[in-house]
Amino acid sequence: MAQPPTSKSSQPPKAVGTGSVRPGGAEAGAPSAPSDIAREALRQLAMRRVPPTPDNYRDLYCQISGTSSAEAFPAQALKVIANSLPRNTPVALRHAQALDTAIASGQWPNVRQAIVDLCPPPESGEKPWNTLILDLITQFERLHEGLTQARKREALNHVLGVISDADHLYTRLVALVKSWTQASSGAKLPDDAVVTSPDDPTASRAPGSASAHAESNAVARRGGDDATEEHATLANAALRPLLVKLLVEGVVPLADTDEPIAREAKEIARLLGAAEGAAAPEETLISRLDGLVARMGWIGEEHRGVREALLKLLQLIIDNIRELVLDDAWLSNQLSAITEAFSGQLDLRMLDEVGRRLHDIIDKQSLIKRELCEAQSKLKAMLAGFIDHLSGVVVYTEDYHELLGRSAQKISDATNITDLSEVVGELLRETHNTRETARRTGTELTQLREQVDSANQKIEQLQHDLDAASQLVRHDPLTGVLNRKGLDEALAREIAFLRRKNSQLCVALLDIDNFKQINDAHGHTVGDDALRHLSRTVSETLRPQDIVARYGGEEFVILLPDTTPEEANTVIVRLQRELTRRIFCADFKRVLITFSAGIALFDPEESPEDAIVRADKAMYAAKRAGKNRVLMA
Ligand code: GH3
Ligand code: MG
Ligand code: MG
Repeated sequence: MAQPPTSKSSQPPKAVGTGSVRPGGAEAGAPSAPSDIAREALRQLAMRRVPPTPDNYRDLYCQISGTSSAEAFPAQALKVIANSLPRNTPVALRHAQALDTAIASGQWPNVRQAIVDLCPPPESGEKPWNTLILDLITQFERLHEGLTQARKREALNHVLGVISDADHLYTRLVALVKSWTQASSGAKLPDDAVVTSPDDPTASRAPGSASAHAESNAVARRGGDDATEEHATLANAALRPLLVKLLVEGVVPLADTDEPIAREAKEIARLLGAAEGAAAPEETLISRLDGLVARMGWIGEEHRGVREALLKLLQLIIDNIRELVLDDAWLSNQLSAITEAFSGQLDLRMLDEVGRRLHDIIDKQSLIKRELCEAQSKLKAMLAGFIDHLSGVVVYTEDYHELLGRSAQKISDATNITDLSEVVGELLRETHNTRETARRTGTELTQLREQVDSANQKIEQLQHDLDAASQLVRHDPLTGVLNRKGLDEALAREIAFLRRKNSQLCVALLDIDNFKQINDAHGHTVGDDALRHLSRTVSETLRPQDIVARYGGEEFVILLPDTTPEEANTVIVRLQRELTRRIFCADFKRVLITFSAGIALFDPEESPEDAIVRADKAMYAAKRAGKNRVLMA
């Protein structure tokens, strides 16, 4: 037998034809190296004038190499495919192993069956979109055991938020409707399966079972098809301490009023943190965590209920106070401000504001009460004195009447002038005394009345002073916005929030342009009105969380919490526009009010004064640049 040519052989095969190839083997002397076979196959294609299609090339290649194209089984390529299948859930692992076995058998029918098994059974009769949407709405609105509306919304948001491809969206929505329908049949579905993977094959297995749950968690962890068991274990190891922290530092304080829940959270944290050997089985942990999550949901709802009830109570108290003090403008304003404060979002800033205002009210009420008590006891003492006097006058008058009666008798009985002169003398004396007493009493009564009047005036003055003083505490009396003291307090509060929340706080300093001209042209009263107009516009244009204060004559400071410099710029520019839009008139003529402003981003390390100084510098730069503009520090 001739030696097979090496790869270096340049000898062409002697006779290559269909009949000259041994079935199942290479012709004697035929090339055996793949590159030689390939070259020979190309040569044969050209020689035989066969079209150089892949199929013709493959047939010739097989003929030359002595293999049969029909028998070629690409085990290697199939293994590569099988290896890229996910194996991180029991179901996925089973499918991948079935394909491994089929490939190992080298039989196409086995491979075909394994691939068919991989695919989910086709849905019998796909619904049209409108039916699907109707089903979705029906299931969304229906009450489902163990599935709150919020959960459903979350799941729907998740699906709509991540998928834009119509086919994929269709499949996910079908799965979502299916999972909700199953929940309505009384079966308790694992909530996170609903949220994270509505089209997960686990959705159809024993719902609520620990294994379904574990599997859905595993699917949620799967970042891509190349995730391995090792990855899962690593993620698990990293998640455990975080979960323990979440339970101990998050759940336990939240559940402080519910001892059993706090205890359960601590116990799960202990089990999660236990050493490898002592650790509880994952399924137990998952089912206990699942229970805890459901109970925390109830606590959340209860907290919301309590909060709403408390707000209603607060409103009731405020309404009652308002009824009691009808004619106190300051108090009435404070109460309106409180009502307004808690009609917004309930947060620490709002509670702080309500607390301060209530404090002011209580201070003022107790001061008024003390002063009123003093005035009242003074009035009481005066009234007692008045009654003493009155009774004295009455007694004296009665004595005098008696004397008159007696004197009349004496006059008629008198027999001589001496008797008569004695009676007249006594009468004159007593009349003089009586007149004197009446005069004295009258004077004293007038004095008493004057005292009562002055006490009343004092009470009125007191009330007035209190009004003014309360306003002066934090608010500018002319414009009603915060004054410097109010600004200092607000700054301290906002800086505390800033440091706690690690957010951004901007400060803007506004100065009215050519304000002196407004005063000079129209008078100081119009100037005052212009200041009020600006303050009103600022207060009505800014967002509820923003704070405005009168910093000096025609300068205002605005604090913008949770705001980036760009956003602050937008807010102040919007304010400029609003100010030119709202017409201000003096002497029936329009007076245009504009301002220049500087904005500084507050640096938590600097003092509030420094930030305001930087904003001030930017404001002056805006003035120099031509006024009516906003510049960043
Ligand atoms: P500029 O554009 O450079 O800011 O010029 P301006 O005229 O606004 O600034 P200037 O500082 O020259 O004048 C400010 C004026 O504001 C002077 C002062 O009389 C007036 N002013 C300060 N406080 C009040 C107030 O409470 N009411 C009134 N009507 N005017 C006030
Ligand atoms: Mg100024
Ligand atoms: Mg000015």
